[in-house]
Amino acid sequence: MPIPSWKSGVQEIAENVFAYVHSGVGWDICNSGFIVEDDGVMVIDAMMVASLVDPYIKEIRKVTNKPIRYVVNTHHHVDHSFGNQFYLPTEVVSHRGCREAMLTRGADINLLSERWPQYREDWLKTQLTPATVTYEDKMIVHMGGRVIELLHPGPAHTYGDTMVYLPQEKVLFSGDVAFHYLTPLARDGHVSNWIKITNGILNHLDVTTLMPGHGPVSDKEAVGKTLKYLRLVKRTSRLHFDRGSSAEETCRAIRLGEYADWVEPERILINVNRLFQEFRGELPKARAMRFG
Ligand SMILES: [Zn+2]
Repeated sequence: MPIPSWKSGVQEIAENVFAYVHSGVGWDICNSGFIVEDDGVMVIDAMMVASLVDPYIKEIRKVTNKPIRYVVNTHHHVDHSFGNQFYLPTEVVSHRGCREAMLTRGADINLLSERWPQYREDWLKTQLTPATVTYEDKMIVHMGGRVIELLHPGPAHTYGDTMVYLPQEKVLFSGDVAFHYLTPLARDGHVSNWIKITNGILNHLDVTTLMPGHGPVSDKEAVGKTLKYLRLVKRTSRLHFDRGSSAEETCRAIRLGEYADWVEPERILINVNRLFQEFRGELPKARAMRFG
């Protein structure tokens, strides 16, 4: 079944809580969000380059003139975090692992220009801007009367994931811990731990509105679908790994079902390779947060 279409643009998903959603199926644009309070604005995910950030800031300015006090990065991938510099002066906040990944991997401008030549001019202006504030497991920001929880659920999509949770509004900005209609990517993550985390969110986190890193605004359905995909890939990968199959053979054996219609199903090879690394014990230790 082909995936449905959804609209781009700003949506108010709770009072003064906004999602900036992209209907495009490219990996250059992630979803973002912003929260408006009397004392300022928090932006969740900066996006990538000036030509993407500028129109976004214009959208924010249609809603509020308050200063942007915080920019939170849900993880280090360029589509989410390379635009940090365009919000300065602001406090950039991320998990420690996200900041470290940005610093150790840096920005390979040549490679990025090759992948996304439409932003050639943009890349020349890019200045890596990692977080100025980091945390370990959980951090609470109080803005106005609102409680904003930054949760590191443990390694899932990456080792430096952050989810932004509003317990009063039951809103979750999951970053790429949940994908919807775009294939999950585990290149820098830990699939088994990701499975535990999505399970924990489903069973113990009170969420009625969820914004995934990519795809339309949803509810826990996006988490459930991500979990189902990861389980499917892990189950077949384990079986074939134990038989000594190659990653390519394993991919051919996986029946993706509904996920065959999600954007870029060929990410399966990256995900199987990552699982094989996990099975061989090559990945750093991973622990899942206890949600309930
Ligand atoms: Zn992403």
